[in-house]
Amino acid sequence: MDFSKLKGQIYLDKKFLNCDKAKIHVLNHSLHFASSVFEGIRVYDKKILFLEDHLKRLINSSTIMKLNLNYSLKRLSDLNHLIIKKNRIKDGYIRPLVFRSSHSMSPETENCYTQLAIAAWKWKVLFGNESGIKINLSRYPKLNSKIYPIEAKSSGSYQTSVISKIESQKKNYDDCLMLDLNGNIAETTACNIFWIKDNIVYTSKKHSILDGITRQAILEFCKIKKIKVRIGDYKLKHILKSECVFVTGTAAEIQFVKRIEKNKFKKNSIFNELKSCYQIIKDNPPEKISDIKKLF
Ligand code: PMP
Repeated sequence: MDFSKLKGQIYLDKKFLNCDKAKIHVLNHSLHFASSVFEGIRVYDKKILFLEDHLKRLINSSTIMKLNLNYSLKRLSDLNHLIIKKNRIKDGYIRPLVFRSSHSMSPETENCYTQLAIAAWKWKVLFGNESGIKINLSRYPKLNSKIYPIEAKSSGSYQTSVISKIESQKKNYDDCLMLDLNGNIAETTACNIFWIKDNIVYTSKKHSILDGITRQAILEFCKIKKIKVRIGDYKLKHILKSECVFVTGTAAEIQFVKRIEKNKFKKNSIFNELKSCYQIIKDNPPEKISDIKKLF
């Protein structure tokens, strides 16, 4: 899809504009220095899944990156509802972006102001591969919270993910697993990772990942269904010896991984149960993670 040809409206700097009018200058600070933060939010049957959690993360990412996002949670929420209404989105995706203006071409940002854009488009799912995806290992480690504010969903943190994804796809893989700086399992280029072994669900600690909202939902499902969970620092061999592997994200939902390089995995009953839980929230999207329990 060529997003520069998107039809409909985009919110930019306090106005709803036709998509072809929502433009920024090529000498924009964020284009040169990746000084922006964003969210990816899903719409199912005109309802916005976990809107409050996504907007709180957007506000937090902006604060961490010293972007002065001058919008309340309520105003951001209203704008997200408006953008799907104006674009008549039933099932789709919303992309709010907070970025700096074109008032500096160096890391200096004194004269830059903060801009907000919100776009939305019709979309189904990222991989949508029932039989499972194949992933390999990235040659780049994920950044960790000692060297980068990894808890922010910031454009700057995606550079090694972008290169890694290109390299994986060239080798005919769908995506890749990235380890942390100490060789522990972190996450894939744009998803969190889980694996199941002896009826226990495992996932990585938060220091080298984006703490995904879908990840938090999976942990909540496990609590509700009384499935044992271990969150920790695990080496590659731990996941390679597991039965079932899956990745999670707003765009990917819950996606089964059939292979990590030559190592094969199978779907099992816990995976199927978690997938059914996800279907329940897709059918009736809660505004926030803490509301999940009301659905069970
Ligand atoms: N990790 C990374 C690096 C991501 O880009 C994403 C997608 N936002 C995720 C994890 C999953 O996060 P979420 O479930 O909030 O979409």
